[in-house]
Amino acid sequence: MIDIGANLAHDSFDADREALLQRAWDAGLEAIIVTGSSAASNEQALQLARAHPRRLYSTAGLHPHHATEWDETLAARIAELAREPQVVALGECGLDYFRNHSPHEDQRRAFIAQLGLAIQADKPVFLHQRDAHADFHAILRDYRRAIPGCVVHCFTDNAEALDAYLALDCYIGITGWVCDERRGLGLRELVKRIPAERLLIETDAPYLLPRSIKPSPKDRRNEPAYLPWVLKAIAEVRGDDAAQLAAQTAANTRRLFGIT
Ligand SMILES: [Zn+2]
Repeated sequence: MIDIGANLAHDSFDADREALLQRAWDAGLEAIIVTGSSAASNEQALQLARAHPRRLYSTAGLHPHHATEWDETLAARIAELAREPQVVALGECGLDYFRNHSPHEDQRRAFIAQLGLAIQADKPVFLHQRDAHADFHAILRDYRRAIPGCVVHCFTDNAEALDAYLALDCYIGITGWVCDERRGLGLRELVKRIPAERLLIETDAPYLLPRSIKPSPKDRRNEPAYLPWVLKAIAEVRGDDAAQLAAQTAANTRRLFGIT
């Protein structure tokens, strides 16, 4: 299994980052892609990847929540980071009209700029979309042909959005949202429609702790070692063999991100 999205630069991991990685390997993970989502986390994610070769990889980008921070200095630094061999994707970038931490105009500007950097670096993009499908899809469609690959991470949208992303040949990242018996009901139906070769799995740690974990961790903090719970939920709803699905999603991850 490979976790395509863990926010390991998050300060909730400061006290036990190495122990947490050991738990992940013990749980059967082969590798983790550490999400970069801000100027500071991009740097920290790369440092982690450098310290754990062939186990950790990183991304470099600016999350739509922080889109007001987009400027030429950051753009130049992300372009530089994108040339590092450990940095396997641009992003996390995209649009989030659910929380609206940054004005929509700023979000679109930062998103478009990062798609441009992905084309320049010839690397795939790690995408975030929440409550913004129409604008997000219109922008992505314009750039899609020039981008070597992309994943819509933490997909939680509806059938129409899923079909539109699949038509653009996007990979789809599924998180522990799928483990939620109530909130994840719609997603559990849609997960059945994702072609096996387009499916990726992720924890989005420390967020989105799978609700199916028994006993539930007291601190509510998610971590990569819980990825098997995500895999298990997806395998159950699809009627897939879990080991086969693990191998398939890991192969998908290696193909998209160029990890050998
Ligand atoms: Zn996200």
